Amino acid sequence: MRNELFSFRVITKILLLLPGCVEQIRKGRHAITFLWRTIILSLKHKTMQTYLTENQEYKQIIEDLSEVTGMLWQKGWAERNAGNISFNISHLFEDELPNTDFEPYKPLSTGYPHLSNAMLLVSATGSRMRNLAKKPYENTCIINLDSEGKRYRQMLKPELDSPLLPTSEFPAHLAIHEMLNSAGRPEKVVVHTHPDNLLSLSHIRAFCNEETLNNMLWSMQPETLVFVSEGIGFVPYLMTGSEKLAAATIRKLEKHRVVMWEKHGCLAIGNTANEAFDLLDVLDKSASIFLTCKSAGYDAEGISKEELDNLRKKFDL
Ligand SMILES: [Zn+2]
Repeated sequence: MRNELFSFRVITKILLLLPGCVEQIRKGRHAITFLWRTIILSLKHKTMQTYLTENQEYKQIIEDLSEVTGMLWQKGWAERNAGNISFNISHLFEDELPNTDFEPYKPLSTGYPHLSNAMLLVSATGSRMRNLAKKPYENTCIINLDSEGKRYRQMLKPELDSPLLPTSEFPAHLAIHEMLNSAGRPEKVVVHTHPDNLLSLSHIRAFCNEETLNNMLWSMQPETLVFVSEGIGFVPYLMTGSEKLAAATIRKLEKHRVVMWEKHGCLAIGNTANEAFDLLDVLDKSASIFLTCKSAGYDAEGISKEELDNLRKKFDL
């Protein structure tokens, strides 16, 4: 039965490659060369897959990614293809690059010298968080930067029907990993998502102010001050995917681990995706308490300033 299944897969694969062969012949190239190259790439690719799946740390990273992207979907923070995620996995490849092929290098609009030779695991553009959770390999790109951090190339995944492209927020992810590396910070994961309650607050003018926003969030429950004592950084509305948004986010991340993008969503960094998720979860819970009281027709009383100061002293914040 297994042999029959294997034969079926091989025949299916060859049939899938036929249109590509016809295209190659039409362009005056050798179809056999194309077929051979594709098969070789598939075999090499298996080497890469084996390389990665045998690496315990990589396995943990994938588990972390699957768990968190699944939670983002279940929370309702990732409608359609909303949100994106990236991991700096350079430390897994310090000794050698895996035996695999990459697409040709593409230039970057700016240089990232602190990401020299970096390897990043990045969600693919258009990918759904719910699919990332179930099939992380099919919905992520493995990106390698050159020695100057001025170009990037992507690991080939020849067995996929269509090539993947990194998230449209790729420039922001690169800029953040560059800042984290240059500052010698430990965070390796960047998560962008649309948490309902925090996003709702960014539509209320009074909370488009960092001080007012953080004082309110801290006062809703003790955990928010204890776990996110630096508060949330606020970035006024800017075009999604723009370099301006990336630059404003970097400035805020110098003193915060979570940033709110007005009328868009939030971005968090952490040593793991779970760590970044926890920060967002705690903050969104505070926002939820505030809005639930409001929708019940009451204003939340909030923990007093004096009690918050006592918390700061007790936890040395
Ligand atoms: Zn978004």
